[in-house]
Amino acid sequence: MHEDFLKENDPHSCLKKNKEMFCDSFKDVFNQRDQSQKKAEEFTKQCLKPAVENFVYSKVGPDILHEMRKQSQFIARVYSQYDILLDLLSNHNFSEYVRYIRSYEVYVKKWILDQTVKHLSKDSKMFELVDQHLDSSISSIKAAIHKATKKTSTDLKTFINNFCQELGDTLVISQDALGDFMMLNKANQEQFAHWFTEFVNKMVKALKQEFKKRDIQSILNHLDVKPQNELFTQVIGCGKQCPFCAVACVSGGGNHSVHEAPLHRPQGLNGYRRINTQKLVTNICSSSVVSDRQFICDATKGEMIFYKRYKEIFSDWNIPADGSYEASDYWKYVMATFNEEFAKEHSAKPADIPTTWKDITRLQAQQSLKDSFNMN
Ligand SMILES: [Zn+2]
Ligand SMILES: [Zn+2]
Repeated sequence: MHEDFLKENDPHSCLKKNKEMFCDSFKDVFNQRDQSQKKAEEFTKQCLKPAVENFVYSKVGPDILHEMRKQSQFIARVYSQYDILLDLLSNHNFSEYVRYIRSYEVYVKKWILDQTVKHLSKDSKMFELVDQHLDSSISSIKAAIHKATKKTSTDLKTFINNFCQELGDTLVISQDALGDFMMLNKANQEQFAHWFTEFVNKMVKALKQEFKKRDIQSILNHLDVKPQNELFTQVIGCGKQCPFCAVACVSGGGNHSVHEAPLHRPQGLNGYRRINTQKLVTNICSSSVVSDRQFICDATKGEMIFYKRYKEIFSDWNIPADGSYEASDYWKYVMATFNEEFAKEHSAKPADIPTTWKDITRLQAQQSLKDSFNMN
């Protein structure tokens, strides 16, 4: 009997006898846990991570706009225009002036983008904004996991559906990624929820690091809202330029059929020249439109038109007609300084610059800019 007892309860023979059963259970437990972990990792990487990134990109755009609108140069159009011209004066770079005069809107958008990158680089401003939305999305995810865990789910599919439902509109999980994930899914939902929380924590840490490695420009490129376009529309409004001197319209945003600018510039800056001498002209549009002079350009189809009748060609511009108007010292200085360069650029001859223009200093040009924009 003693021997029988021993035989019956011998750990070795017990193990041997139940080997198959143990083995199966062990396989079940092992596989189930393994699959939960694997599935949780898969779901976090394939479904959740792209959704979190998209969420961050959708939220950061409006934040950047809000942040930039608080900066002095973006409070109103005049501040931007003033700063752009001041930057041009300080940089003293001829080709920048050419780009500004030739394609005002393109130039200004690039300037806005540079200002945005510069501001967001300061004190890790950009990453402050990114981290804030990463944290908020993680809170929503954790709350959704918690709520989904409390609901009885018969299988993982129901659990995931509950989770997505709890998440609501906060994060949009791609249905394609979700479909692939749902296939062959036998993971235990409780274990899945446990691993899922672990991977979500890891994901947020990794995402914070990943965002910090990306340069600001590439983050800006991903945004639904392009700050340079949006700020241009909000702050500058209209990008139309005078057909003669290329000065920008100051009518701002909103619909307007007629473009205006109070102060025009020497037309030679935009390539206008005397036909017989090919010399760039120093006249400004306001005096041209009350003169007996004529102009010819692509829009007139090779025909000479009196400036007085410019509206027949450019009906969408209203130029103040006053022969007493003069160009500002700022533009006189620019034209006098880069006369040769402008001539070369426009394949013309340099203008006859009035002697008084040549005496204008950079400081006087700067003062004239302040006066024009009431920045004193
Ligand atoms: Zn003009
Ligand atoms: Zn306009």
